[in-house]
Amino acid sequence: MSAHESVAVLGTGIMGAPMARNLLAAGFPVRVWNRSPEKAAPLAETGADVAGSPAEAADGAAIVLTMLTDADAVLSTAESAGLLDGQLWLQMSTVGVEGAERCAALAGERGAVLLDAPVLGSQPAAEGGTLIVLGSGPEGEARERVAPLLDAVAARTLWLGEAGAGQRLKLVANAWVLALVESLAETFVLAEGLGVEPQALLDVIAGGPLDSGYAQMKGKGMIERAFPPSFPLRHAEKDLRLIVAAADGAGADVPVLEAIGARFAEGVEAGHGELDMSATFLTGAKR
Ligand code: NAP
Repeated sequence: MSAHESVAVLGTGIMGAPMARNLLAAGFPVRVWNRSPEKAAPLAETGADVAGSPAEAADGAAIVLTMLTDADAVLSTAESAGLLDGQLWLQMSTVGVEGAERCAALAGERGAVLLDAPVLGSQPAAEGGTLIVLGSGPEGEARERVAPLLDAVAARTLWLGEAGAGQRLKLVANAWVLALVESLAETFVLAEGLGVEPQALLDVIAGGPLDSGYAQMKGKGMIERAFPPSFPLRHAEKDLRLIVAAADGAGADVPVLEAIGARFAEGVEAGHGELDMSATFLTGAKR
């Protein structure tokens, strides 16, 4: 199987643009489309064909990769792309359990082969080609065909079962990560309230069993009040809605995650949605 099948990348935002650049660097012919054309245009400089519509991007592409905000964006874009019988659809956005079912239904109607493959890792991992892919979908040829593509964007791919299994593990992983960030934010709010330097917490846990590279990274941003969006708060809030909906569907009791979702929604409401999710700290911080 060719290592250089043509790829249509639909969605060149924070994640999609660096992923497209890594595919180009690995020698894949790449056509890109983004709803706001100014985000796709610079990719022409690195060799991408910039398409004017999802259909133009997907026309003749062996693999259609979607990296868009949510299920509604993915479904409407995939419908406009006009997925073809036998075309491989690599759906990498975080769309949740119900979103994955809707994607599977569309793929079924079109005869396209769906691989559900959300990712762990944010902008730096997308830039470095070190994402972790939570793949699911039919075993065999489709997985083999996307392997070279995934090698170009990811450090590791886990294959988890039927399409949808990737989204379920993604929600589980994000439940943990998002709770960690809110916990750190509130711990810092508490620290500042008690006259304790937040840095003292990071120093006291450093290198021990309580430490977390993620806490050190996100904590630094909170201390510096610097929140360049790596994983925007609005996406974290969207993911918490997906997590709570999935928990409801499964009868899992997750009251703290529900509360974190409400807290993130407050941050989005306050105008912090485009900042990194660590900006949830601003909701409780004194300034
Ligand atoms: P982003 O920078 O906000 O990009 C979102 C993309 O979706 C943009 O191309 C946007 O187009 C497009 N879009 C939104 N609504 C649309 C619609 N109705 N129709 C067509 N296009 C639409 O987001 P991102 O950070 O790249 O995230 C993409 C996906 O990856 C999300 O599902 C996110 O949860 C997931 N993810 C993100 C990270 C992260 O750290 N950033 C990590 C893991 C997974 P415009 O440019 O026109 O707005």
